[in-house]
Order: sequence, then C-alpha cells, then structure tokens
Amino acid sequence: MLAHFAGDFLTARERFRRAAGECGARLQSYPIDAPGPNGEALSVDAAYFGAPNPTRALLVSSGIHGIEGFAGSALQQAFIHDLAPAADGRTGILLVHALNPYGFAHLRRVNEHNVDLNRNCLQSFPGPGNEGYRSFRDLLDPYSSRVHADFFTIRLLLRALRYGFAATQQAIAGGQYTFADGLFYGGDRRQPSIDIFERILHDAPVAGAGLVIHIDVHTGLGSYGDYQLLPTEPLEAATLRQLRKWFGDRAIIGSTNPASVNYSASGSVRELSTRVFASARVYALTLEFGTFAPLRVLQALRRENWLHHHGGDSVFSRKIKAELLQCFCPRAARWRNALLSQGLSVLQQALHALSAPSP
Ligand SMILES: [Zn+2]
Repeated sequence: MLAHFAGDFLTARERFRRAAGECGARLQSYPIDAPGPNGEALSVDAAYFGAPNPTRALLVSSGIHGIEGFAGSALQQAFIHDLAPAADGRTGILLVHALNPYGFAHLRRVNEHNVDLNRNCLQSFPGPGNEGYRSFRDLLDPYSSRVHADFFTIRLLLRALRYGFAATQQAIAGGQYTFADGLFYGGDRRQPSIDIFERILHDAPVAGAGLVIHIDVHTGLGSYGDYQLLPTEPLEAATLRQLRKWFGDRAIIGSTNPASVNYSASGSVRELSTRVFASARVYALTLEFGTFAPLRVLQALRRENWLHHHGGDSVFSRKIKAELLQCFCPRAARWRNALLSQGLSVLQQALHALSAPSP
C-alpha cells in the first residue's frame, strides 16, 4: 500500500496514469504553462471510469494545494487499485489528479502565481475583503531576513491571545485577496488550473448526472492520522442528516460543530463543482487528513513563502522544503497507512451512497 506514495510529481502522475489505463479508464491530460523544477512539462490529468451516460457521479480531486497532492495521489491510486472497477452500471467515476501540478512539482501549497487555488473559484474578482489578515501581515509575510530565528511562534501566540484563537485562524487561513506575496492569497483573477478543472467536468460524460458526490482530498488540518469531512457551508439540516447517514456522525464536521477545526473560506473548488452541476443534487466535501499542530504547519508555510520570495539554495532551504513536505505528507508509515485505509473507506461509503436506490 505504501508504494502508492511517490517521491515526486512526475512519478505520481505516471503511476496514476498507468494504474487508470490498466483498469480501462478514459484518460485525458491538460498541460499547464508553467514548467517543473527541471523544465519538465506539467499537467492536470483526468481518468474516467464507468457508465457512458451515468445518472450518478463520484468526483475525486487531489492536489489543489500542490504539495498535498502526494497524499491525494496515493489515495487515488489505491482507490483505482481497490475500488474503481467495482462501480455499478449507472455510476461514473471521475478522478482528477493534481489540480495544482506546479505546487506539487515545486513543493508549494500555492500555484505558479502564489495563488491558493482553493480560494480562487470565485464568480467574480476582486474577492471579499479580509481586514483581519492585515493585523497579522507583519508576522506572516516575507519581509524578515531572519525568518529562522525570529520568535514567530511566541509572537503569534501573544497576538492570538489578544485577538482570539478562532478569529486568528479565520483571519489567517480564511483567504485574502490583497497581498499577492502573502499566505492564503486567492488571486486577482481566475487561474488557468481552475479553467482546466471546469473543462474536465465538461469533457467527462457526467453532465447528465442527477446526483454527484465530489470529494476534494486535502491534508494538514485536524488531528494527526485522523480525518474529517467538511461540507460546503451554509448547510441545510436535511443535507447534514443525509451526509451523516452516508458517512457517519463523527466524520461530518459542520462549522456549528464544537469539534470543528474548520474556518470559512470563499472560492473553494466545492463551490465550482456545485455551480457546474447546477441541475444536479451535489454533495461537495473536503476530505481533510490531519498532520501536526496548526502553529507548526503555519510556521512551515510562512518559511517556505519567505524562501520562495527570497530564493537561495542552501542546507536551510532544503530543510524548509522538507519540513513543508513533512507537514502535508508525514513520512511515518502509521500516518500513511491510516490515510489510505480511512480514505478508501470514505470513498467506499460514497460509492455505496451513489448505489442506493433513492437517496
Ligand atoms: Zn488543502
């Protein structure tokens, strides 16, 4: 199972394509303009399995946050290996591999324009204001030349005590559309990868599906080695009930749940799939696998953003990239096995939900 985790983007893409091809999937490749670290061509890849005119569809996307694609790609490969050929005659399964191939290949969470693509799926720009981010900008953004010894954690904790922890998380991670060199920047225009994603949804034969479950795979939020499913908010009571029936009470975390480590963000890819399948009943979920404490993850993101803007190839630079990778795809076999087994059981639950007579 652990062999599904690739060491780089090109290997992951190759394995995904080979596994899907061997299972008879229809494969399509969508190149992006930005090259990989050695000048190689990068692409978003789509594999379609199942019915030619499905009335129900399962859509599984990975790697919208670049480096999180190591885990997402591994889960997609394991899914092809274990479950995809078992789809019934009326269900189509569309796997979208590495929505942010640049970030995956360059070990970044954002894309070639420093944009967080999961804040970029807006209907119009500019995106909503976020005054809160401004209050943390001096701590987060890449000014300091002493990023490795600047008491960031203590300074952020002191600031958060004043500001409130939930408000701090919302201000920082909720997305911002003002500072192009900052973190969680949603961009000032629609990004090419998002256009590609929309094209993939139109190219695959899923347009006529009346029931769609979209699972977008992420890592880095929540408890280590555990998962949660985050639905699109606001959430109607009937939708919440339905999701809990399919995926279990514990797994579905709405923002009203006190166990939530979530925050609200605009422009997520779930909004886009919900818009594209306008006439269908769409259940769009973020599948999040937790890794380390939020402060550690934020520190890793901040240092990598600093490195990107200041450059340099040194032992320290390699450490920064290694720590970011560790924060989004921990090396421990226990974590990786947990991700695959829990992820497969969620995807199995989704297929089961789609095969029910009348959900
Ligand atoms: Zn993510």
